[in-house]
Amino acid sequence: MATSLEKIQSVMTKKYGSALEISTPGSSIRLEGSLDTYQMKVEAGWTAARFGYKAVINDITVPDVQEETIACSSYVDNVLERLHFDVAIIGGGVIGTSIARELSKWNMKIILIEKEEDVGVHTSSRNDGMIHDGFAAKPGTLKALYNVRGNRLWEPLASDLGIGFKRPGSLLLFSNPAMKALYPLMADRAKRNEVDGWEFWSRERVIAEEPYVTSKQHGGFFLPSAAVISPYKATVALAESAMLNGAKLMTSTCLTGFEIEHNTIRRLHTNRGICTASIVINASGNWADIIAEMAHDRFFSLHHRRGTECILDMESSRWQQHIMSMPSILQVREKTKGGGIVLTEEGNVLIGPTAEEHPGREQYTTSPSDMIKLKKHFTLNSKLSMDQIITYFCGVRPCTYEEDFIVGPSDNISNLIHVAGIQSPGLASAPAIAADVAEMVIAKAKTFMEIQPKANWIPKRTADIITRRLSLEARDELIRLDPSYGKIICRCEQVSEKEVVNALHSTLPATSLDAVKRRTRVQMGRCHGGFCTARCIDIIARELHIDACDVVKKGPDSQICKGNMSHDETNRIC
Ligand SMILES: Cc1cc2nc3c(=O)[nH]c(=O)nc-3n(C[C@H](O)[C@H](O)[C@H](O)COP(=O)(O)OP(=O)(O)OC[C@H]3O[C@@H](n4cnc5c(N)ncnc54)[C@H](O)[C@@H]3O)c2cc1C
Repeated sequence: MATSLEKIQSVMTKKYGSALEISTPGSSIRLEGSLDTYQMKVEAGWTAARFGYKAVINDITVPDVQEETIACSSYVDNVLERLHFDVAIIGGGVIGTSIARELSKWNMKIILIEKEEDVGVHTSSRNDGMIHDGFAAKPGTLKALYNVRGNRLWEPLASDLGIGFKRPGSLLLFSNPAMKALYPLMADRAKRNEVDGWEFWSRERVIAEEPYVTSKQHGGFFLPSAAVISPYKATVALAESAMLNGAKLMTSTCLTGFEIEHNTIRRLHTNRGICTASIVINASGNWADIIAEMAHDRFFSLHHRRGTECILDMESSRWQQHIMSMPSILQVREKTKGGGIVLTEEGNVLIGPTAEEHPGREQYTTSPSDMIKLKKHFTLNSKLSMDQIITYFCGVRPCTYEEDFIVGPSDNISNLIHVAGIQSPGLASAPAIAADVAEMVIAKAKTFMEIQPKANWIPKRTADIITRRLSLEARDELIRLDPSYGKIICRCEQVSEKEVVNALHSTLPATSLDAVKRRTRVQMGRCHGGFCTARCIDIIARELHIDACDVVKKGPDSQICKGNMSHDETNRIC
């Protein structure tokens, strides 16, 4: 039952004085006024979320924090003008691409619109790649439901997509006897979430499994179902699988507005023309509240939680067997899992992530203070140290104030489905969310059109050739067929020229250095592109028939070469 407006006003006045005005439009609660910091704004939103309304609309302003607008691609043409689609999906992250693949099982005209020049550019590439076990999610939430279901779906899905999948399991270390005493409660939570298995590990068992573990551990709670995938390879593979099955994917295509008539989206405005769609899916990550507003359906707000991680050299994985963390007792009340040591599918070790409320929806800078926060995780394994770090990155989680996913049809707009607030464990949950959203779409579509499952739907996508994972004999065989499989472009990651060429001519072709990196791992090794960047630029220029100075890092205006040098200039530098 929702709390009365008077009671809410009195609670909020006690906390924030008369700074805030509260109203309850529709089934949401709305906050207006001004507070000093973004953290205070977010905390006010969390407080409001406890009053039992569907969602919080947080319109509190903060000095020096401007509401951001979507940076749309400068690319303009008319290719979408007057086209009609049965379903339009906004957003090419792991959620949008999973939904596109799921819907491609039906004879429908599907379009996926992504504003960047590739899929998986934002949160879907900037995460740990963990297919969580489902223990951490609060019981009864959509996060808990979809996480456990998604975990079960990912292994066969990864096999169909031709991408790697490993299940190292996750070990939560007890930091003291009090934490160890919580084991029955932890087991109860795992049971309530229907997690696929959990074990109590004694101190001795932990040492046997993780020989370099901290001496400060008191045993652990082991969750064998925790797994890892490459999140960017997964997103590209999902998109390609959808495309192979007839879905249209439009990158560099930004949704700029809707035309609404009689509570229905009639037209979608983009930088590539105005089109129509019978059903629209909002899967736009950190922009989902803005897209909802464009549809006159702004019943929730997102806040943005940055997470920074560092990546250790592949060598480090020799000393760590499982995903591992040591949550504090206070973690129970935190909004995140607290970070730790994560093994990636590709062999690096990740340390992180941090969690910091920050207004930037696509603000990915890292800072020394983030590194200080990550330091504590290094103490969990005596062999890991900060000098093994090869790089850092940051991602931004799109969070609702209820800290749960929103998955379902709009209450106000007849042909809109929201998939919003997909923070962690969104990657783990993606296949389960996609299955449910597809069911919603099919149910809706059946009310106005004839639809059938596609008889010739292709579940399998051919796996990319990754030469470094092949035996010497298999490599030799490949090199005989095409010598460019033997020409190593990236020494750290052992990527051949042919793999780069394959990425440039794949179903969803890479068109930038970063897109080649996501598909092949060039530039991801210890030297971080020192050796391979120039070679990659040459190959991209040759294969795409463009000048080397027109090769971009990611999207327009990110060229790396600024002009050709004369022989004399080159000689002087050398
Ligand atoms: C540091 C960190 C670690 C995490 N670790 C994990 C983990 O280990 N396991 C896990 O399960 N989850 C994890 N997550 C969460 C997970 O990454 C997200 O839940 C998931 O990637 C969300 O996917 P998405 O498709 O909703 O969003 P996104 O990947 O952000 O995709 C949304 C897309 O919509 C596009 N878009 C937006 N507006 C428009 C527009 N107007 N027109 C066209 N396109 C538009 C954007 O460009 C973007 O590409 C982590 C997140 C972070 C930040």
